[in-house]
Amino acid sequence: MHASQTDLGETLLLLNFASRMLAQASDRDTVADMALETLADFAAAPRAALWTLASDGATLTLDRVFSGNASARPELTVPVAEGAFGRVFAEKRDMAFDALPGAPAPLPAGPAPGQGCLVLPVVASSGLILGALTLDAASAAPDVLASLRLVATVLAVSLDNARLFELAMVDGLTGLYMRRFYDARMAEELAALRPGASLCLVVFDIDHFKRVNDTWGHATGDLVLREFARTVRRGVRPGHDLACRYGGEEFTLIMPATASARALEIVEGVRHAAAAMTFPGIEPPLRITVSAGIAQADGPGQAAESLFARADAALYAAKEGGRDRAVVAG
Ligand code: GH3
Ligand code: MG
Ligand code: MG
Repeated sequence: MHASQTDLGETLLLLNFASRMLAQASDRDTVADMALETLADFAAAPRAALWTLASDGATLTLDRVFSGNASARPELTVPVAEGAFGRVFAEKRDMAFDALPGAPAPLPAGPAPGQGCLVLPVVASSGLILGALTLDAASAAPDVLASLRLVATVLAVSLDNARLFELAMVDGLTGLYMRRFYDARMAEELAALRPGASLCLVVFDIDHFKRVNDTWGHATGDLVLREFARTVRRGVRPGHDLACRYGGEEFTLIMPATASARALEIVEGVRHAAAAMTFPGIEPPLRITVSAGIAQADGPGQAAESLFARADAALYAAKEGGRDRAVVAG
């Protein structure tokens, strides 16, 4: 659909719809897909792409390209330097360039103005440049451009929110949620627990982890933490169980709608996978084990603190019992 003076009402309706959707959608993928689809639609462009600016500002990496009805994520990184993107970022405004033929996503051919590739900067309200949008389009009519800019602004706000959320909630070393997210999420899960329903909380603790640091060094300790986090992620039910780095070498797992017998099966899977982990290149060869405590909550009225205390007591029992084991709280 190409907006013109005659369908301004329709344009406003669509913009209203798009901006509300963008503002409401919490996950980054949905937001990005919706924005690209809307932009391509408005500009009547065959393709629209989102690029993410590296933190050093030197390169842009293709996040996704929308064409037809679907988005794809070909791997592509381009320098910013003195090129078209450099100009767009320096002036923080959209510009049209000639298109680079045959590129897997809309790309400007060079810094000279032209027709065929429209580039819009994605700028957070703080002024921070987050990336760019590129479209297979000649420079658009002023009313269309106004629409494109509005969608770019809403997208920038959404992406910046996602970025800030990640900064605040995701542990940089392991990529898992941090304790503050666990606290908020656990409270929500317990508040939503219906009579007759159960959930489980697992606390994992790596055994003799201090020894890893003391013998192999802190960097290897960090590697172990990263690899164990991967093992947990692989061993749990995607989209169901929620793994967090609670602190140090302790990890929690929220298992909604799960009784302790099932939780124990999954935890044992993770425990065995952790014991099987190898660290190529690390000398002397390194193996780890983990201990786990599991506590089940039944029905409403459970406090997060007491559930954690029960799981932690079970973990303590696992340690006392010789480590490398999981114990279910009585
Ligand atoms: P236990 O089997 O009883 O759990 O013994 P442990 O050695 O694992 O437990 P302890 O609590 O004594 O030691 C935990 C260590 O984890 C101490 C701390 O230096 C280390 N640690 C915490 N966070 C990090 C981190 O981010 N990186 C690294 N490398 N070490 C960390
Ligand atoms: Mg510990
Ligand atoms: Mg430990």
